[in-house]
Amino acid sequence: MSKEQLWAAFAARRAQIVYEAAERKEKIYRENPYLSKVDQEITEAGSAYCHAMLHGKDTAAAQEKLERLQREREDFLKSIHADLEPHFNCPLCKDTGMGEEGMCECFKRELIAENFRASNLEQALTHQSFENFDLSLFSTESEGGLLSPRENMKRIFKLCRDYAEDFENQQRSLLFTGATGLGKTYLSTALAKALLEKGKSVIYISAPEFARRIENARFHDEQEMLEQFYSADMLILDDLGTESRTSYTIATLTDLMDRRIRCRKPMLFSTNLNLEGLQKAYDERIVSRMLGHFTYCYFYGDDLRLRAVRGE
Ligand SMILES: [Zn+2]
Repeated sequence: MSKEQLWAAFAARRAQIVYEAAERKEKIYRENPYLSKVDQEITEAGSAYCHAMLHGKDTAAAQEKLERLQREREDFLKSIHADLEPHFNCPLCKDTGMGEEGMCECFKRELIAENFRASNLEQALTHQSFENFDLSLFSTESEGGLLSPRENMKRIFKLCRDYAEDFENQQRSLLFTGATGLGKTYLSTALAKALLEKGKSVIYISAPEFARRIENARFHDEQEMLEQFYSADMLILDDLGTESRTSYTIATLTDLMDRRIRCRKPMLFSTNLNLEGLQKAYDERIVSRMLGHFTYCYFYGDDLRLRAVRGE
């Protein structure tokens, strides 16, 4: 969906909500003839008040009558639980999509959601949540002086949940490293879900798709696409290292990281590469930013999918 189409969708949705409110109002008035009557009386009392004021007469009586009628109308509406106002989804912009400084946050959020509708994420979002995370899948046996995989996961899990809960105060980004099948994608998805539920804009994108979009934006001059990578509240890059890299994509990623770090907008990168691998795949600039601004989460243990296949 293009931006223009989204504006149109907003306008249509708003019109529908306003129409529904008008319908509700009409029905309430039809069922309660008192309302039309009291409205009429309020109009008359209002003119009497204005008339008195214009002619320099005492307005107290007229004002009192007007206020009494308004109060009676209010009380009546309350007594029948009347619901006359439109129910907008966004109280800030009343679903116009426009805020005081251009696009409202709700519009930006939907635009990002539309542009990054990763079908696999949508599917995963239905069940991959913090609540459904199963720590019992991880072994309790520790090796080589490390925490057991379960203890390690417990720690990472808590870090992610706290991170989402107190997202507004997060200064650092997250780096998930470790082999495939240890829950990196699951926790990234669960974090994305928790943030989306808080009304944050989240881009969740695989690194190969990210690289494709960057190259595409370069050749089609799609500055807006790039802007969204900068402006989303959270940027999640999955499977970093599996994309095809050019000096252009690396420079763009570096610039993106810098801008997001400056604006205190966190990122979550997940990768199968260790630090050495990252150093080989990217240049020093990217790795040094990761070391400086990312909290490092190391996933280890047995591949959960293999364990499932083996029936463990
Ligand atoms: Zn809004």
